[in-house]
Amino acid sequence: MELIRHHESGWIEVICGPMFSGKSEELIRRLRRAQIARLGVAAFKPRLDNRYAQESIASHSSLMIPCMLIDRADEIPALLPPGTEVVGIDEAQFLGENLPEICSGLAERGLRVICAGLDMDYRGVPWDPMPRLLAQAECVDKMLAICVVCGNPASRTQRKVTGKGLVLIGAEEAYEARCRRCHTVDKGEQTEIFPY
Ligand code: ADP
Ligand code: ZN
Repeated sequence: MELIRHHESGWIEVICGPMFSGKSEELIRRLRRAQIARLGVAAFKPRLDNRYAQESIASHSSLMIPCMLIDRADEIPALLPPGTEVVGIDEAQFLGENLPEICSGLAERGLRVICAGLDMDYRGVPWDPMPRLLAQAECVDKMLAICVVCGNPASRTQRKVTGKGLVLIGAEEAYEARCRRCHTVDKGEQTEIFPY
């Protein structure tokens, strides 16, 4: 669900799901529609996500929108150009623990904040701070990809290489979309993640 403008009130929209589920496409679509409505739009993504285009939010299907590169969510307020009404953030899971607080602060100032990000890592573990952001958002869309093994809707990201640590930037060569049934996690990585 995409919210429409409502008086001077701000809010948070989250677009989550696994890789290849169309999060960036959907974020770009919403930001383009805001631009068409002549709203002031500012877009951000983490500096480390440089898979396709520097200084653009880009989807796997090559849609693009210019953006500013940041390391942490707390850089956002100072970077907003005067007149910003809509803030778009891609790969939000990489922007640090206080992302929910920063987004809430912007929403309380009357801005519409749209965050796209992975809700789980490649092991299927919720990716902090996305769970808190999802809880605080007015509107959440969970996108699904297509499982490359069986063709069912896919909620998980399968890593195709092992032993590379939690964050490994890459696309088709390193990851693929899988459903719950077809998703697998290496034994060693399971014990490291599920210690309880
Ligand atoms: P995300 O931001 O969630 O990683 P993108 O918006 O960048 O997703 O890319 C979505 C596009 O990826 C789809 O429109 C499709 O063209 C492509 N794609 C590649 N593999 C898959 C898959 N397994 N399931 C769905 N879409 C896929
Ligand atoms: Zn499957």
